[in-house]
Amino acid sequence: MRHYLIFLFICLSATLLQAQAPDRITPIPVDYKIGQECYLFQDQPSIKVKTVSEKKVPAEGYRLEVTPKGVIITVSSAAGEFYARQTLDQMTGCGACKELTCCEINDYPRFPYRGLHVDVSRHFRSVDFLKKQMDAMAMFKMNRMHLHLTDAAGWRLQIDAYPELCSYAAWRPQTTWKDWWAGDRHYAHESDPGAYGGYYTKEDIKELVAYAHERFIEVIPEIEMPGHSEEVLAAYPELSCSGEAYTQGEFCVGNEDTFRFLETVLDEVMEIFPSEYIHIGGDEANKEHWKTCPKCIQRMQDEGLASVDELQSYMIKRIARYVESKGRKVIGWDEILDGGLAEGAAVMSWRGTEGGIKAMEMGHDVIMTPGRYCYLDHAQDAPFKEPESIGGYLPLDSTYVYEPVEASMPADKVHHLKGVQANLWSEYVVTDSHAEYMYWPRAIAIAETGWSHPEDRNLKDFRRRVLPMLEILRSKGYETFDLENEYGERKLAQTGLEHKAKGCKVIYNKPIQDWYQAAGEKTFTDGVIGGWTYSDNRWQGFLSDIDVTVDLGEVQQVNYVGGTFMQLIGPGVFMPSKVDILVSEDGVDFTLVTTVWNDIPVTTSDLLFKEFSTICNYKARYVRYHAYRSTMRGFLFLDEVVVN
Ligand SMILES: [Zn+2]
Repeated sequence: MRHYLIFLFICLSATLLQAQAPDRITPIPVDYKIGQECYLFQDQPSIKVKTVSEKKVPAEGYRLEVTPKGVIITVSSAAGEFYARQTLDQMTGCGACKELTCCEINDYPRFPYRGLHVDVSRHFRSVDFLKKQMDAMAMFKMNRMHLHLTDAAGWRLQIDAYPELCSYAAWRPQTTWKDWWAGDRHYAHESDPGAYGGYYTKEDIKELVAYAHERFIEVIPEIEMPGHSEEVLAAYPELSCSGEAYTQGEFCVGNEDTFRFLETVLDEVMEIFPSEYIHIGGDEANKEHWKTCPKCIQRMQDEGLASVDELQSYMIKRIARYVESKGRKVIGWDEILDGGLAEGAAVMSWRGTEGGIKAMEMGHDVIMTPGRYCYLDHAQDAPFKEPESIGGYLPLDSTYVYEPVEASMPADKVHHLKGVQANLWSEYVVTDSHAEYMYWPRAIAIAETGWSHPEDRNLKDFRRRVLPMLEILRSKGYETFDLENEYGERKLAQTGLEHKAKGCKVIYNKPIQDWYQAAGEKTFTDGVIGGWTYSDNRWQGFLSDIDVTVDLGEVQQVNYVGGTFMQLIGPGVFMPSKVDILVSEDGVDFTLVTTVWNDIPVTTSDLLFKEFSTICNYKARYVRYHAYRSTMRGFLFLDEVVVN
């Protein structure tokens, strides 16, 4: 009895770690019932495992019963038992608590594919780092690790037939991607002093794959083609159209040696990666070189290809056939749809979800990973308090609210949607701890999207459950984002703004452009204020001056006119060079109130916001706001023209 009291005291005293009831399990289970009694144990709970057919418990699913005498797990597969034990671990705070509330849990995943992507090209990650992330993935029932092994920033896999890939293409003079990108983007020899880089040996991969296998995780290798291959073509320039290093990033598709190279590489890849899918990239190829390359032109003639899109498609189809002849399947980014897709190939939809939906309609399997929800390289909190990132703003909430099944998907094709994936591109993510910080907790949101059923998902409840999960992760040495001290969206973006021009008509003296239209002609007077990112559909973007006239409807007192711009020089977003503010009673004769000049240097790289405004004393019906595009010739973004 004394023991009982001590254990009970432990459970009540350290509340966050002691997730003894099923109401904290993340991803949230399909169904659970909580009983009245408790099960108290010393050391380890007593667990009985029963195996049944898949008709009773789906593959990867489990039934977990906690009775006053012990735990009974019923499964149809080893994966199911593994996930039941993950659930139990969450309930006991990984063994910290010796008391469980009696309950019955029935659980199984919504999607078979629940992925995490690691970009090891931009910055190399150790095998230990990857294993550590696999441990966290397993805790949240994620089951695919996608390794982005090759890209311009470095080749990361031992290939015996092409040793220069590791002795040269895997190294660069600069440690950070940012410095390398700003420089001449050259490579270095492994033996050069200060060379940065690295690669996985075949032994590393075997160790990693075995570790993953024990956690029911499949490791999917990605070998980029035809683009993002600058590093290969620096080591083997004869595989490019020009034949010269440092001239292009695309393989020459007219050259048979390109296929010899890729097939040999893929042979070695498939030898050490037993995954169902082999990822062959396919994204962002610059097809210009092919238009003038005699070999590529010859290939197009021989194969009856009408465009360079079809030339890329020829390559992807040929590689897909090769991979399939070895009993595997290919998956690629949604650009592999361009020019026609190989039968049996799966698509990873990143440029939104349209590509994925199109692929599903054509009968291909799809993994959804739209940048807007799943790209964890965006800042997860107010950019001023976050480490430098590629830009954008993707807080936990925005990741969580993603629902992969859309109304526009044909009901008879939804079964082709196989799952979701969290991607972390690491251009600005130099260290392992920074990468971890970017993954957790946002990857848990994607894990729940992939596992739990939509009717059970609830943002508020998820935020409550994720806090103890982060505490468990931190207790195990993970560097996580500090969710409890989240700053959140720009304050005005949360509340909106009341002002005199709200709801008033806006006359565009220069037309709205195709990109970043936000709410169209209502944008500048809808009271909706932009957030941390220009891509949040609240900012209107122009590659010209912004010149608008607000019609207040009647002549009235005007004491303030202003608008806010942002600067983010990475993607070419700049402050205006100046803003002219004019007023008029009749809409014909305008008086210049003032010119507001920019004082933010065009070299300032941090995300900045600046109000271009004036305090004045006029009677006016019309207010003209004319922002001049800067000499940098980038984008101007404005969210509202405020009049008071
Ligand atoms: Zn060529």
